[in-house]
Amino acid sequence: MKNLAFLSIKELKALINSGEVSSKQVIEYFKERAHNHSDLNAVLEVFDTASVIEKTEASGSLAGIPGYIKDNIAQNTRKMSCASKILEGFECAYDATVIARLKQAGAVLLGRTNMDEFAMGSSGETSAFGPTKNPWNKECVPGGSSSGSAAAVAAGLAPWALGSDTGGSVRQPAGMCGIVGLKPTYGLVSRYGLTAYGSSLDQVGIFARSSYDTALVLSEIAGRDLKDSSTLDVEKHDYTSALQGTIKKGLKIGVIQEALNGEGLDPEIKKNTEQALKEFEKLGATIVPVSMKTLEYGAACYFIVSRAEAASNLARFDGVRYGMSKRDGDLNSMYKTTRHDGFGKEVRARIMVGNYVLSVGHAGKFYTNAQRVRRIIRKEFKDMFDTVDVLVMPSHSVPAFKMGAYDNNKLAMDLQDYFTCSMNLAGIPALSIPVGFTADQKPTGMQLIGPHLSEELLLQTADAYQQVTSWHKHNPSLD
Ligand code: GLN
Repeated sequence: MKNLAFLSIKELKALINSGEVSSKQVIEYFKERAHNHSDLNAVLEVFDTASVIEKTEASGSLAGIPGYIKDNIAQNTRKMSCASKILEGFECAYDATVIARLKQAGAVLLGRTNMDEFAMGSSGETSAFGPTKNPWNKECVPGGSSSGSAAAVAAGLAPWALGSDTGGSVRQPAGMCGIVGLKPTYGLVSRYGLTAYGSSLDQVGIFARSSYDTALVLSEIAGRDLKDSSTLDVEKHDYTSALQGTIKKGLKIGVIQEALNGEGLDPEIKKNTEQALKEFEKLGATIVPVSMKTLEYGAACYFIVSRAEAASNLARFDGVRYGMSKRDGDLNSMYKTTRHDGFGKEVRARIMVGNYVLSVGHAGKFYTNAQRVRRIIRKEFKDMFDTVDVLVMPSHSVPAFKMGAYDNNKLAMDLQDYFTCSMNLAGIPALSIPVGFTADQKPTGMQLIGPHLSEELLLQTADAYQQVTSWHKHNPSLD
């Protein structure tokens, strides 16, 4: 059997269409590969797909193409745990809108991937089912919270996967695993069936090997959904049509100086980012330095808003309606024991912080102020886009770090969102693309950031870069 592991969706489609391999062979191949690389702990469950193969629509744009789904997105009749003990064994009663649309397109959903518990974390280490390993270096984390989805694509377990991005959980792991990761505009992709963490920040995101593949998947999942009133009035659209291998004429790229020249950025990540900018210059782009005064306030503002929303969203896990239920005392003790035993340490800490910043007497100081800062961040992006088409920042400040490295440094862990969370606060799209490696073979990623609904421009820009570079084609040697 041909080595299919690192083929793109585009290449796999060609093989299936020409009859060289059957969808069935493709699925068997990737299932076996998941089994052979189970030590990565990227996948929590590989489904029994026998019935799925039969039903595969031959005509959809993703017909027979396998992918993985983060364990916080509902798949009808399948389990979904959000990598938490409180939902262990919970079975979904419906499909998330993104799942229904992917099935409609013929995609084969192979299983569900590991993640930080309830998407809270930046390393994959808060999962109740053990940490995920980075395929490039198994002693290191793959980033998080969509750790398993990123590791699965990087390890060649599937050509694409879905994640969710509340503060960077698609882009940061994409960067640390050397693949592409898209966080769409808030409201472009339906959140119906995505377990809520920070509802005003959450978006389903896409992992893939190339900008083109990312566009293919986005074309299937994006667009208005009557089941999610926060979706935007956007029609179904083919995002691959603008990918012609060239950048937009006269493209102006603004480079956020506070990110590139601020303290705390790893020098090799900086070097790779500057190298990538040179490539964009060769492609015809104009590179201009821009200043983003609010960058340093993003993480603090995100910290407050995300915890406040998390505390409210996770109140529903009370032992009555979902999953675990510890009923050995009165009602109050059921709430307490279920939530204490069911949630992990990180989740409990966030719920406490969230309730604190919303509490009477404190909300004015924390939550209301954070909302003000959020408005200022949004406005600053808007102003920056008056003078440039896209902005650039690294996707992460340090390369993939050793497991346990930040066990005693929570602040350093929380600052992992430094370069990513401002775009969630502003609701704008950002695309992380691989732009090189460190001397010890760890991938580094760079974000292309655009105004609301500029996904097409971001994907086009990244595609042009990927036509003349090969960073996205490097793969870890696992075997
Ligand atoms: N690392 C961030 C957090 O823990 C982002 C998580 C996410 O995007 N889901 O909140």
